[in-house]
Amino acid sequence: MSLTARDVLQKLADDAGVPYRDVAKRINQAMAAGDGLKQAIENIAKENALNSSKYSLDSQAIVKAIDKILREDYTQTLMISAVLAQMVESSEKDRLPVPAFFAFLEILADVPDTSRDTKSETSHEIEDLATRMIELTTTLVSIVCEWSAGGMRGVAADCPVELRGMARSVFRKTRMFQSGLWSCISCGKIVEVRETHALLCPECDRDISNERTPSSTARSGERDRLGYGRTERDDSTDESIQ
Ligand SMILES: [Zn+2]
Repeated sequence: MSLTARDVLQKLADDAGVPYRDVAKRINQAMAAGDGLKQAIENIAKENALNSSKYSLDSQAIVKAIDKILREDYTQTLMISAVLAQMVESSEKDRLPVPAFFAFLEILADVPDTSRDTKSETSHEIEDLATRMIELTTTLVSIVCEWSAGGMRGVAADCPVELRGMARSVFRKTRMFQSGLWSCISCGKIVEVRETHALLCPECDRDISNERTPSSTARSGERDRLGYGRTERDDSTDESIQ
């Protein structure tokens, strides 16, 4: 079964014998007019006399797929998180939609923080996994939340009971973000969006910047850090670089 909107749209395009681009465009238009993703897909399937149940998306299967990736390897998960956090702050076209990032964080919160590091990951692998994660999370929020032309309106009526808590949280946080507030991804404190740096409140950002000495990502660097960490990357010099 397909787990992402892209896969479903590709299948729909193949079966209907039309270019992917055209299907994607139609879906975007329908969604901009307030249709949900599922509804938009169903309409196109029907128009082409295709059985719409072949193009369904299962939100619980998507969550499982996300969860599986996040449990695979500790460092890998940290790296994926960093890529996504950067993309949600990006002003470029590849910007990750905020609700998708909230869904990612909700699922991440349930993953035990075991530092099981079994792989040595390449940047290429991380890029592929981050792309996969983006497709999974954006698809997920498209179906567990209810959308209208004006944006997110709440939890989708057909959202499974198991995922309603997550969907509700994504909705609340999205609302909060839209009104200019942000909940620090490290301590959870609510701050103004414009005060944040890399999605952290000013205090957490300061703490993490201080910890980030060039070579010490591991705990073993702790002792050195007391002596040298602060002097090297103190004040806000790295803020201007980023
Ligand atoms: Zn914080």
